[in-house]
Amino acid sequence: MKEPKVFLVGETKVHEAGLHAYLAHIGAPDWQSDAPGDVELLSEVMARSCYRSFGTELNPNVTRVRGSNKAHLANLIKVKHGSTLEHAWLNFMFCDVSRVVTHELVRHRAGTAVSQESLRFVRLADDLDGYVPLVIRETPEAMELFCRTFDQLGALQMRLTDLLDVDALPFSEKKKITSAMRRLAPIGLATNIGWSANIRAVRHVIEMRTAPGAEEEIRLLFAKVGALCVERFPHLFGDYRVEEVDGFPWYRTEHPKV
Ligand SMILES: Cc1cc2nc3c(=O)[nH]c(=O)nc-3n(C[C@H](O)[C@H](O)[C@H](O)COP(=O)(O)OP(=O)(O)OC[C@H]3O[C@@H](n4cnc5c(N)ncnc54)[C@H](O)[C@@H]3O)c2cc1C
Repeated sequence: MKEPKVFLVGETKVHEAGLHAYLAHIGAPDWQSDAPGDVELLSEVMARSCYRSFGTELNPNVTRVRGSNKAHLANLIKVKHGSTLEHAWLNFMFCDVSRVVTHELVRHRAGTAVSQESLRFVRLADDLDGYVPLVIRETPEAMELFCRTFDQLGALQMRLTDLLDVDALPFSEKKKITSAMRRLAPIGLATNIGWSANIRAVRHVIEMRTAPGAEEEIRLLFAKVGALCVERFPHLFGDYRVEEVDGFPWYRTEHPKV
C-alpha cells in the first residue's frame, strides 16, 4: 500500500543584483525587507512596485507604508490583490499518487505546469501498488479483493511481457507495447507527477482539494502541501486554520480564492 508523498524540489529565487539595481533606479536604494525568504520577498516587491510604496517619499499620494513583510502580505491576501501572488512559483514532485489524483490535479490549469510520468515509456511490472481508501481498508474482504486484483493485474503485465517478447524488441516497438499494456493497469496505480504552480494557484488548490467534498487521496496529498507551505512560507499561508474532518485536515481561511 502506498501513501502520497510531497517533495518541494524548487522555488523562485530573487536575483539580488537585479533587485538592488531596480531599487536604485526608482530612488529607493536603501529599501530592505524582513521577508523570511525569496518567495515572500518577491511577492512583496511586486506588490510595492504597484504604488511605489517602498517609502513615503516616492509617491506624493503615499503618506504611510506597511513596514513588515508579514503585514504587507497579510493585507494583499485580505484585499485579494491576487495577481501579485502569481510571480513566485513552487515546484513539487508528487510521488506514489494514483491516476485518480493526477486526473483531478490536471483540471487546475490556471497558473500551473505539469510533467507526468509516462506509462508509454515506463514499462509496468508485477509490483503494481497504490493508495487504499479507508472504506476498503476497514473491510477485510474488500481489502483482500483489492490487493488480489492488483496482484493479478501485475501478473498480467508480466504475462504480456513474456508473450510479446518485449525485451527482445527495439525501443520503438517496446514503447508501442508498453502503451498497449498500460490499458490493463488500474486507475489506482501509484505513479509520479511534477507539479509547479504560482502562489495564488497553490492557495486555491489547497482550499479546493482539502475541503471535505474532495476525494480522499487528493485531500491527503494537499493536506501535506498545506502543512509544508504553512511551515516554509508563513507570511503567504499563515492565515489558514486547520480543521479535522473524517480524519483529514481541511485548510480553511477567511480569505479564500485570493
Ligand atoms: C469536489 C470536486 C468535484 C469535482 N467533480 C467534477 C466532475 O464530476 N466532473 C468534472 O469534469 N470536474 C469535476 N471537478 C473539477 C472542477 O470542475 C474544476 O475543473 C477543477 O476543480 C479545477 O478548478 P477551477 O475551475 O477552479 O480551475 P483552475 O484552473 O484551478 O482555475 C482557478 C480559477 O481561475 C478561473 N478560471 C480558470 N480557467 C478559467 C476559464 N477558462 N474561464 C474563466 N475563468 C477561469 C476560475 O475562477 C477558477 O476557479 C470537481 C472538483 C472538485 C473540487
